[in-house]
Amino acid sequence: MALLQIAEPGQSPVPHQVKLAVGIDLGTTNSLVASVRGGRATVLPDEQGSAMLPSVVNYSQAEASRVGRAAQALAAEHPADTLVSVKRFMGRGRDDAAGDAARAYYHLADDDTGMVRFITSVGEISPVEASAEILKVLHRRAVDTLGNELDGAVITVPAYFDEAQRQATKDAATLAGLKVLRLLNEPTAAAVAYGLDSAEQGVIAVYDLGGGTFDISILRLHRGVFEVLATGGDTALGGDDFDAAIADWVLQQLAAPELAPGNYRQLQTRARSAKEQLSTNDSTSISLQGLLPEGGAIDLTRAEFESLIQPLVKQTLRACRRCLRDAELADTVDNVVMVGGSTRVPMVREAVGEFFQREPLLDIDPDQVVAVGAAIQADILVGNRPEGDLLLLDVIPLSLGLETMGGLVEKIIPRNTTIPVTRAQEFTTFKDGQTALAVHIVQGERELVSDSRSLARFELRGIPPMVAGAARILVTFQVDADGLLNVAAREETTGVESSVTVKPSFGLSDGEISGMLQASFSHAEEDKQARQRAEHRLEAQQLLEGLEAALAADGDELLSPDECAELHGLMQQLRLAMEGQDVSTLKAGTEQLGKASEDFAARRMDKSIRQALAGVSLDALDDEVSE
Ligand code: ADP
Ligand code: MG
Repeated sequence: MALLQIAEPGQSPVPHQVKLAVGIDLGTTNSLVASVRGGRATVLPDEQGSAMLPSVVNYSQAEASRVGRAAQALAAEHPADTLVSVKRFMGRGRDDAAGDAARAYYHLADDDTGMVRFITSVGEISPVEASAEILKVLHRRAVDTLGNELDGAVITVPAYFDEAQRQATKDAATLAGLKVLRLLNEPTAAAVAYGLDSAEQGVIAVYDLGGGTFDISILRLHRGVFEVLATGGDTALGGDDFDAAIADWVLQQLAAPELAPGNYRQLQTRARSAKEQLSTNDSTSISLQGLLPEGGAIDLTRAEFESLIQPLVKQTLRACRRCLRDAELADTVDNVVMVGGSTRVPMVREAVGEFFQREPLLDIDPDQVVAVGAAIQADILVGNRPEGDLLLLDVIPLSLGLETMGGLVEKIIPRNTTIPVTRAQEFTTFKDGQTALAVHIVQGERELVSDSRSLARFELRGIPPMVAGAARILVTFQVDADGLLNVAAREETTGVESSVTVKPSFGLSDGEISGMLQASFSHAEEDKQARQRAEHRLEAQQLLEGLEAALAADGDELLSPDECAELHGLMQQLRLAMEGQDVSTLKAGTEQLGKASEDFAARRMDKSIRQALAGVSLDALDDEVSE
């Protein structure tokens, strides 16, 4: 009989159990799931061997909605019940989505929080629910293929997605029964797929041309962390526009009367497959069977196709140029990654290569590259990789800032900034002779400290006494890769320093974070006014304090009793205005007092110059010169 083995505590001989994790590219047109198996990240195909799941959900039956190709087939018959491009509606209100071409097919409503919903024959469906249907199919596929329940998933989102859009994506994943390890920016996922994260540093351009959208992102890699330097693109430009260009060309060639709408959709579908063939063939033919009474076909060469799409490709390059400008790069881009089905078009590849003067990376299937990168990241996050292989990519969910005079918030690091990050800003003292500075660190999007979340306070002491505004205090906010915030304050002339470390996200649930964001949106106008009021009040207070000190020092000597009385009267008026709520009275009072005291200020200036000169004899000046 074999003896049972018992390991020493903490030294279990059982090999590290492999956890199951997937990466999911939840796309506008197509979605994919990938996983690392046997050390390699690969996409997981469905039973028919197809990895791409069209991001289409059909609700024409009350029964389980159909997703993917089956749903696509029902689009023509049930346009309002077949949801395509749902991603465009994620985390958006009805008004935000108003300009979107995709809405034309749907009947839209909004829910009680103002988020958009689709009216279908089975009831109102939110974009989150529809996306969850897509994710459920991919979830099931992964469980079936990998043979067990998943330990976690990384889901990708466009780099420009805001907090609400990211939250909606997370909610959809939760509804689909997935444990979200992290949301990952799509361009970052693509860069990870190419292993670009193993370099020490570099600048990467990710050119993503999909079905209906074009995204360009400039990333900077520094010590294992990707920072999004700039994003740009066009939310209404993609392969669909190539199809439309071909369809319109066909109609033009035929000089035919316009086709019925259903037929135009048919023609677009045929244009799409013609386009896809032209990525490998020099010419193709588009059948007109069933579209025209006489049937027939029309030939299209690659050269002709290229001339049709040239303006569209140029449009993407213009967006690239803008994005490069926004990124304020000192040197050139090191790598260009191609993402999205439409980058299969040879002319697109050439144009992009020429623009960036770099051979673009295209070894990995452009449809799969985002899912592959997400799978690699998921594998690391779930703990399957040996130590050292830690990628930390995250953004701060709420702005970090500090309190300035008047109870106002000065934001130092805006929300959604990729971490780690360091930002510094210079501040100064408010009063003459001020020797200490209270640093109050707050989190949130609101303008007033009273509406923000207080994180920490500390004091900087030992500032040498100087006149107000002369001290130069550099406050540095540094958030490390774990989201730990360190704030340091340093007086530049003396070097005195003080600092504190806090964990900004501590104790905040996702729900609370989105609540704080909502509040900042709904109170935007009110906040602006409160800020103005506080700023004017501060200005008035500074003027009053300065004038009080000046009157005490020189009032009797430099002013007549009448002048003195006038100033005191105006000061009293201003004090009253400060107690009231009316901003314009306050502003007018400050201006009036400022004007009235100008003359007094000029006389004080003269006096101090006279005093300064009186203290210096001509002999002393001579001495200085001769020394
Ligand atoms: P999304 O990111 O919007 O989900 P995809 O990256 O899946 O979109 O790209 C879909 C687009 O790619 C469609 O317009 C499709 O016609 C186009 N596409 C796919 N294969 C090819 C090909 N071989 N040649 C040209 N275009 C292609
Ligand atoms: Mg995509």
